[in-house]
Amino acid sequence: MVEAPEGHEGSGFFATSLDKVVGMARANSLWPLPFATSCCGIEFMASMCSHYDFARFGSERPSFSPRQADLLMVMGTIAKKMAPIVKQVYLQMAEPRWVIAMGACASSGGIFDTYSVLQGIDRIIPVDVYIPGCPPRPEQVIDGLMEIQEMARNESTRRRNSEEYGLLLNSYGIQ
Ligand code: SF4
Repeated sequence: MVEAPEGHEGSGFFATSLDKVVGMARANSLWPLPFATSCCGIEFMASMCSHYDFARFGSERPSFSPRQADLLMVMGTIAKKMAPIVKQVYLQMAEPRWVIAMGACASSGGIFDTYSVLQGIDRIIPVDVYIPGCPPRPEQVIDGLMEIQEMARNESTRRRNSEEYGLLLNSYGIQ
């Protein structure tokens, strides 16, 4: 059961701000796009299954179309050849969009400190939450999802139009 946002209530009425209602809706209906390239993807599958169950957070619908996803979850080793594809998927997602780097490989290249492996997806796209581990346990994945929920819940509806956000995207060459 989702808690109602802060507001004023009385007999027969409840008043709150638009930001809080939008934040509540976004936080509890995150649709993840699993970009799984290796072993961390298996741990994500465990997180989705009944024992841990992402559905409890409103995220039971993995989307394999970027246009119907708002949470990009990159899990696994990203080869430099694959980096443009990750970026393209990110660009095809509509705002608001969030990004999780799951596991050491997606966060920093992990043990693969080689010429061919991207040393963290934050070299190509902005990342909101990093989940450490090789692989992270499902509890950590859920914790990462809950961090994103917290961000979505508290984000101003104006943030995505702000100068600061524009500068962040510009730093990645995204207009
Ligand atoms: S962080 Fe570890 S478990 Fe995850 S993809 Fe890399 S090597 Fe595999």
